[in-house]
Amino acid sequence: MRVIMLAPPGAGKGTQGERIAARYQVPHIASGDIFRDEVARKTPLGERLRAYLAAGDLVPDELVLSVILDRVLAASRDDGGFVLDGFPRTLAQAQAAAKIARDTGASAQAVVYLDAPAEVLIERLSGRGENRADDSADVQRHRLEVYAQHTKPLIDYYTDRGILIRIDATPAVDEVSEQIFAALDAIDN
Ligand code: ADP
Repeated sequence: MRVIMLAPPGAGKGTQGERIAARYQVPHIASGDIFRDEVARKTPLGERLRAYLAAGDLVPDELVLSVILDRVLAASRDDGGFVLDGFPRTLAQAQAAAKIARDTGASAQAVVYLDAPAEVLIERLSGRGENRADDSADVQRHRLEVYAQHTKPLIDYYTDRGILIRIDATPAVDEVSEQIFAALDAIDN
């Protein structure tokens, strides 16, 4: 199973991504988690990433692709697929990934788009834990703007490719999972 998650901050992409990965026994590849881990370990890459994450700005496409793409291709080749959480996040990333994926049989089968009204997202974000460096109210608002400007265009991109599955992310977590599983079970194999 090869799935891309597409969702604004606060829609529950991380939680649902982990559940999809567990159900279909594929790696959950979360770009934000990978980047935060580099920052926490103070690696040279982490030092380059730190300011972007702290500000809620996008990491430049070249850097994202150089870190994430190899993992995606390896998961597709060796681990039966992937759930991508947070990547692609721009049209340029999606186009670059699609081009390489086509040549290697790693193209996504489905894009799960978690949709929720802005007030639900803001409510959920404000209830998040204190442990994320990027969680101040200003940065949250900025991340929603960055999402609207750079990531939302991917909805049309994947709709045009016929692989977008829209899921209402407003109900309780278990109910959202059931909706996702029903849709993905139908396309599996
Ligand atoms: P959330 O799921 O809460 O929206 P993530 O954990 O996916 O956030 O990402 C956290 C931060 O990591 C982003 O705000 C951004 O700075 C950076 N990031 C993650 N993935 C990407 C990506 N594909 N392209 C650019 N920046 C990214």
